[in-house]
Amino acid sequence: MHELLMNNQEIWDLFTRKEEYSPEKLDEHHRFLFSEKDLRNASEPEVSRYLIENGMQVEFPENKSFAVCLTHDVDDIYPPLSHSLLSSAYCLKQLNFQEFLAQSLWKLRGIDYSPYLNFSKIMDLEASFEAKSSFYFITAEADPVRFRYNIDDIQHHLGEVSDRGWEIGLHGGYYSYDNPEKIKKEKESLEAILGKKIIGFRNHYLRFKTPDSWEILADAGFSYDSTFGHRYSVGFRNGMCHPFIPYNLNTGKEIDILEVPLVVMDTALFSTSKSFDEAWERTRNLIDTTASLNGVITLLWHNFVFSCDFRKDWVRLYEKVLQYCSRKGAWMTSGEEIYRWWADGA
Ligand SMILES: [Zn+2]
Repeated sequence: MHELLMNNQEIWDLFTRKEEYSPEKLDEHHRFLFSEKDLRNASEPEVSRYLIENGMQVEFPENKSFAVCLTHDVDDIYPPLSHSLLSSAYCLKQLNFQEFLAQSLWKLRGIDYSPYLNFSKIMDLEASFEAKSSFYFITAEADPVRFRYNIDDIQHHLGEVSDRGWEIGLHGGYYSYDNPEKIKKEKESLEAILGKKIIGFRNHYLRFKTPDSWEILADAGFSYDSTFGHRYSVGFRNGMCHPFIPYNLNTGKEIDILEVPLVVMDTALFSTSKSFDEAWERTRNLIDTTASLNGVITLLWHNFVFSCDFRKDWVRLYEKVLQYCSRKGAWMTSGEEIYRWWADGA
């Protein structure tokens, strides 16, 4: 394994992501465009390594040595036409007529039969490994692709998720990431339906502006964010494999929010891996690295994947992660529980 030799200034610049303050280039969604070098180095959590080597100590409940933060962005609760067509074609090819009917005829039976209302199924899977997770729901109406869903339609699903002890957080709208008023409104809508406060956040499309987004989220009353990660690769965006309090270089102050950095997003992982084996190997390396530094690795698996016949490999990889991390003795839980543990100990 290579070791990057960095001096204190470089460690600090990486931790604060100084270069993101005045980006030369943004992508089509106005996200920071990482260099090839950034993406290559993202597999090494240099800042966390530095902190641990300099005496930082991290503990987890029941003496677990590291944690896995499991999360799901709920982009859709009804399959969009493109998914339905792909799923139907896949089922027909496999001669699986029962699944074909389930995928294509749910609308006739009512929205409650939508295959993407699959939260119980996901929770059951996680529960079988003594794990929990976070589900981030959209309440924004505007979206660049299509109207997503009306949160009022699934109140009883939210109730079930919350009653079982899994977390419900906000998946901030595409157009809201730089708009404090919109973010506050979306948070209030979700809280009204749920009947309790929410503390966790991730933005749709991982839209994020360093450091402004943290300030906006802290003002809106969120306790933690988990947007800060990579879209075009996997790994550690600021060299951290631990949750951290972000620092604003403009004000010279810490921001009152915890970042639980995102490390592996399903779509990013599979779009940059040539095979299932390569995707698994990259994920396992990130897990091993995180475990060796008593860190927290955050995974994002979209909920639709679990009811999508053409994404079976992605579910297989998720199950492999649960199995591997469970054997390795990880604490596998939601962003909310990571936050509460961190806030208590810090
Ligand atoms: Zn999303």
